[in-house]
This record gives sequence, structure tokens and C-alpha cells, in this order.
Amino acid sequence: MLSFDAVLRQRLDAIRGRGLLRELRRVDSPQGPRIQAGGQTLLNFSSNDYLGLANDPWLKEAAISGVEKFGAGAGASRLICGSLTPHHELEEALAGFKGTEAALSFSSGYATAVGAICALLGRDDIIILDKLVHACIVDAARLSGAKIRVFAHNDLDDLEAKLKWANRRDEQCGSRTSTTLASKPRITRPSEGKQRTLVVTESIFSMDGDTAPLRGMVALKEKYGAWLMVDEAHATGLYGKHRRGLAEELGVSGQIEIQMGTLGKALGASGGYISGSRALIDFLVNCARSFIFSTAPVPAAAVAARAAIEFVQSAEGEIRRKTLWTRVGQFQSAIGHRPPPIPGAIFPILIGDEARAVEAAAELREQNIFVPAIRYPTVARGQARLRVTLTAAHSSEDISRLVRALNSVDIGFRR
Ligand SMILES: *Cc1c(COP(=O)(O)O)cnc(C)c1O
Repeated sequence: MLSFDAVLRQRLDAIRGRGLLRELRRVDSPQGPRIQAGGQTLLNFSSNDYLGLANDPWLKEAAISGVEKFGAGAGASRLICGSLTPHHELEEALAGFKGTEAALSFSSGYATAVGAICALLGRDDIIILDKLVHACIVDAARLSGAKIRVFAHNDLDDLEAKLKWANRRDEQCGSRTSTTLASKPRITRPSEGKQRTLVVTESIFSMDGDTAPLRGMVALKEKYGAWLMVDEAHATGLYGKHRRGLAEELGVSGQIEIQMGTLGKALGASGGYISGSRALIDFLVNCARSFIFSTAPVPAAAVAARAAIEFVQSAEGEIRRKTLWTRVGQFQSAIGHRPPPIPGAIFPILIGDEARAVEAAAELREQNIFVPAIRYPTVARGQARLRVTLTAAHSSEDISRLVRALNSVDIGFRR
């Protein structure tokens, strides 16, 4: 019999054989446009720290004051004795920022998706996902036990077809009572004898950088009586008059039942959130297992996230956002892209072959430029790509260096 480690080594060899082996890269500096790694200073085009806040003195001071006043750890889950002032202040700030009745913070965006979706849906229900939604939403959908349907990426016709199917199924099953489970008790609502349908999308897609047609999606979910959840992970802090996200930019925030996001990308801190009605938040406090059965986030993270929310709403926050869009515009014109109606800071450069994508990334690293190769399972097989992200902390010269480097690598990028 093979030993445990031998089995795992075999599996790793198989992953390596497909060009899909991943390894951690140790970074010896704070997050920023320049990072230290492997003794090299790399110009970093891989971060989600879009506004350059992760290492900003404003956030660092906030985090330090959080430690000084509330310690290093929260000591317990929120519902025991870990619900500290910084968590409550963060949630009040989040609700104000997002313009919703209430908000709830989680320890990560991943935990947010899993907690919220599994609380809201059970095996009587249907969840309809965009083909390209983030892994945390896919995992949440599976774990919820709801029936999963996937619609073609950003395709409203296909979404409508799935919504029609869901409504037909509801009629056929009628007011069926759920088969009672003899398995271990779950803190979910008792069966309502009514099927619920939840549509989930990202607003700005994490690996493709494109935008979801939120207005059309809102119209469809209203037509078919479904609920809508929008993950604003890559949009919070960047879009809309108050930087609330793409839903604000498109004027539909008030029609989305569940708005989700992370505090770890443009907001530069750590954690995730749901914003919505008071009823939604009270319900999640009672039923979101990733919220209930987990130690509350460290106070420093909550205080830093609140500082970031203040920052993005300030005049200085607006300047950062404008700087980001200026850099994005510079990059787009250098690579001959017509600027889309809604700008975005994520640029996938499709390569296809996994090994070639990894090679291209290595060639860029030789020029001290860090652009990650994104491969399966983050994207589909044969859809490997370089993923460039720009931030407000990049200089105009940084963008020029990137363009020169990309032009020097054989990835069909030439301009
Ligand atoms: C990063 C990301 C998440 C997860 O958020 P974390 O706070 O990093 O756990 C969720 N959804 C999308 C679309 C993301 O890109």
C-alpha cells in the first residue's frame, strides 16, 4: 500500500504534468505597486488593492489603534462575546456607505458567500449562477443543496430561459412539502412549501474584468419573482456617485435583495460583507453558519475597513479613483483598446495554453514585471491568461514599462 505522502506526491505529479502546479511566492514587502520577492524588486500588476490602500498610513494607523484599544484577537464568535465595538461601527459605516438599512461583516468574502447563500437557500430551492461566478459562490451553491442552474456568461436570454424553467418546476411541484430530513439538525428555516429562486452574479468579473448587465438582470428577476444577489468584490469603492459599486453606477442598488462584497480588495483591509434590509441582516445573524460558528474578525481588520470606507467616500478617495481611471485610460490607449463605457482595472490577456501562460509570466518576471498566469481551476481549461490589474498607486511610467514588457513577450499582444 502506498503511504499517505506517496499518494499525495502522485497527485501532485499529475497536477504538475498538466502544467497546473501552483506554488506560493513569498513576498517580503507590504502590498504595493512594487514588491520584493525572491530578492527581486518587481513592478506588481497583480494586486486587487486598486486604490493603493492596503499599505496606506491612514489604514495602518486605524489598524494600530484597533489593536491598542481592542487587542489582537476578538476572543470569541460574534454571538458569544466577540461582537466588539469595531465590528458594530464597521457595520454602521457599511450600511451608511452602501445606503442600505443594515450590513453584516464576515471574516472573508468567501465566508460571506457561503454563509449567506446557505442560509437563504435549501434543497427545495433553485440557484441560478452566471457561468463565470467566483469559486466561493459555486461552493456555496453546492453546499446549500439547492438545485443549481448555470446561464451563459452575461447572457440575459439564457438567464430568462433558466428563470422560466424554475417557474415551471415550481408549478409542477406545487405546494409540496419538503421531504423531512432525518439527518442532523440544521439551523435553517423550516420548509415553507414554496420554492425560492436566487440569481447570483458578480458585478465586475474577477478574471475577465467585464461588467454584468445588472439592469436587465433586475428586470428579469422581478418579472419571474426571483431574488438577486450581486457580488461587488471588484467594484466596491470604485463605481457610482458614492463609490458603492456597479449597482449604484447603474442605478439599481435599491432593487437588489442581497449585495455582497469584500473588504480586502479596493478597501485594502480584510473581511467580507452583506448589505441589505434589516430583515436580511437579522436573518443572517441567526442562520449564516460561517458567521455564527467562527471567531469574530480581528478588531484591527474591522477598524481598518471602516477607515477605508471613510477614505473612499472622501475627496481624497475620489482623487484616487480618478487616478486609477487615468492609468487605465493610458494602458488602454497604449494597447489600442477602445475604452468601454464603464472602465475597469482588470485586463485579461488570453493565452489559452497553460504552460505557455506560465512561461510568458516568467519572461515578464525576468524584466522585473509581475503579471500572474491564471490557470485552471481559476478559469476554464485552455483559457489560461495573464491577468493585469492596475491600481491608483501605479505611476504613468509604470504603465509605460508594462506596455514595453508585454510587447517584448511573444503572446500575440503586439501593437
Ligand atoms: C476575491 C473574491 C471573493 C472573496 O473575497 P475574500 O475577501 O478574498 O475572501 C469573492 N468574490 C469575488 C468575485 C472575488 O473576486
